[in-house]
Amino acid sequence: MSTVYSHSRLASFENCPRQFFYRYVEKVPVDTESIEAFLGKRVHEVLERLNRFVERGMVPSLGKVIERFRTLWTEQFQPERVRIVRGEVSQDSYRELGERCLTNHYRRNYPFDEGESLGIEQHVTFPLDADGRYRMRGIVDRIVRARDGAVEIHDYKTGRWVPTQSDLDQDRQLALYQIGVEQSYGATSVRLVWHYLQRDQVRISTRTAEQLVALREATMQLIDRIEAESDFDPRPSTLCSWCEFRDLCPAADAAPRARDLPPRNADLAAAPAAIPPEPAVVAQTTRKPVPHFPRSEPKASGEPQNFPRSEPKASGEITRPGQLRLL
Ligand code: SF4
Repeated sequence: MSTVYSHSRLASFENCPRQFFYRYVEKVPVDTESIEAFLGKRVHEVLERLNRFVERGMVPSLGKVIERFRTLWTEQFQPERVRIVRGEVSQDSYRELGERCLTNHYRRNYPFDEGESLGIEQHVTFPLDADGRYRMRGIVDRIVRARDGAVEIHDYKTGRWVPTQSDLDQDRQLALYQIGVEQSYGATSVRLVWHYLQRDQVRISTRTAEQLVALREATMQLIDRIEAESDFDPRPSTLCSWCEFRDLCPAADAAPRARDLPPRNADLAAAPAAIPPEPAVVAQTTRKPVPHFPRSEPKASGEPQNFPRSEPKASGEITRPGQLRLL
């Protein structure tokens, strides 16, 4: 049976064939993960839970969302398993960054009444060709039926880097998901939506039928290249600092270390959320007011401006849309 590919599998080969080899050919066991990956997983878990509550007609308060995140973080954080590449950034800074991601998302989307969820953390598997030789799979963060009838593919990002619109118009991951979603849902109008949570920005792109045909072709050619590969040469870059096989790889020492780079280095920006928190930038689209949760008071320098300042009180875990409840 042929291999089922994912976007991350393809990207791993493109970024560094040797990393692909360790991860997918040799299947070298790994018992650590970067703190950026840890943070991204916890944020996604909380957003999944939030979306499932909303699907049932209930909206947890922002305080409860943050409380849930803190609980998951504390329960699952194991210092010996979570690698902090940028040693000058504390674990607490990353946790606060996750809280800021969730706070930004909550305030932007409250009361979460835009569109109906068709799928949450939805697995999609689909062929790229008529014979089913080239098969893809992925997990879509949220699939939404928008008010205008279009189907939207939503993706949550916790990294700091926001690509240009032109980059997103070429992005492969969500466009591949579109192929699967069109097949599964019979959708004819599809939008790709990225939520850059840390920067509180949303980006949207669409694909034409011709672009999707070209994407299928390019992806199948890439799979052919991967399956014909035998050398799997290492490709050292600043991303080696986040590579789980760094201790194994003979080329790792040739790569510059993240800590030696200026913070705005372009390669570093491509690393997942590897940057300490900073005050949020102004949103590109209009935020909705959150009537039941007070905005934070500005604090002394260095603290993100948009965190909830008060802890949730015992009552008021759930509100229904349109129902106001003070924490
Ligand atoms: S350490 Fe760098 S060169 Fe080596 S496998 Fe990882 S990403 Fe590739």
